[in-house]
Amino acid sequence: MSRPPVTGATVVAGVAGSPVRHSLSPLIQNAWLDAAGIDGVYVPFAPPTDGFDAFVSGLRGGTVRGVNVTIPFKEQALACATSATPRARAAAAANLLIFETDGSVVADNTDGLGLLGAFAAQAPDFAVGAAPIAILGAGGAARGAAAALLAAGCPEVRIVNRTLAKAEAIAEALTGSIVAFELPDARQAFAGVGAVINATSAEMNGGTALDAPLEATPETAVIMDMVYKPIETPFLHWAKSLNRRTVDGLAMLIGQAAPSFEAFYGQSPPVGVHVRALALKALEP
Ligand code: NAP
Repeated sequence: MSRPPVTGATVVAGVAGSPVRHSLSPLIQNAWLDAAGIDGVYVPFAPPTDGFDAFVSGLRGGTVRGVNVTIPFKEQALACATSATPRARAAAAANLLIFETDGSVVADNTDGLGLLGAFAAQAPDFAVGAAPIAILGAGGAARGAAAALLAAGCPEVRIVNRTLAKAEAIAEALTGSIVAFELPDARQAFAGVGAVINATSAEMNGGTALDAPLEATPETAVIMDMVYKPIETPFLHWAKSLNRRTVDGLAMLIGQAAPSFEAFYGQSPPVGVHVRALALKALEP
């Protein structure tokens, strides 16, 4: 199927970030729109880093249906919304803004759904409620993941971070069983876990390799990395060499995109569209 030509009736949505040039979201969302024959478009927006509030004010009223929000605007997106879903409030960040026709702006966060969807897609027998889960990092992504995992029944979340105070702040902010660890104590945090999730930006775009003692995890543990550039990070490479099952960040990106598509265009993404293959091709050097 192909989309009708763009007209005044076309539903417009997009992604706002800085930089946004290399975002894979337009590729994924437009592939779904094409396949479903929906009269919609999905475009990248790059507001100036000090101009996000003005950008949102300009979109109020529903001429643009909504935007996904990425680095560095997720916290600001929550702050400038009229209302927010409980999962966006728990994450203290929004990756989705919907512009209602009455001028209100609703903030949501689908990253947690994306994370759980990634495990379901790539480690289908993983049970979130079976054992503690360790998260490396204590930024916005780690906080959102911790909230989503606790809501999904994880018995204990262990936040392991270079800066202990940030891990402790997440433990204090969220309700549920969360323990904070400093990075040098990762071995202790990895004992008996069902999964380890890398939510640090250390290895993004070829950054420094994380020194994480994955050998201290049970052999059955699933190792997940939110970073997907490169698709196999040194962290995932190390996990594979230890024969651990792995889940990658691209599966999470696609997982968060599906509920966003639904919020913009009022229906689920069509099945059978090979958005992962398209994204992998776009990630090739
Ligand atoms: P953030 O708020 O900037 O937090 C970054 C975290 O990484 C901090 O806890 C920081 O530790 C830690 N860190 C950075 N460099 C490190 C290093 N060399 N060694 C150890 N720790 C280091 O970022 P974020 O928004 O939470 O995002 C984190 C990552 O997740 C990013 O790479 C982002 O692209 C990715 N992400 C992916 C998806 C997806 O759909 N796949 C969704 C959301 C986020 P300190 O606190 O000590 O500074």
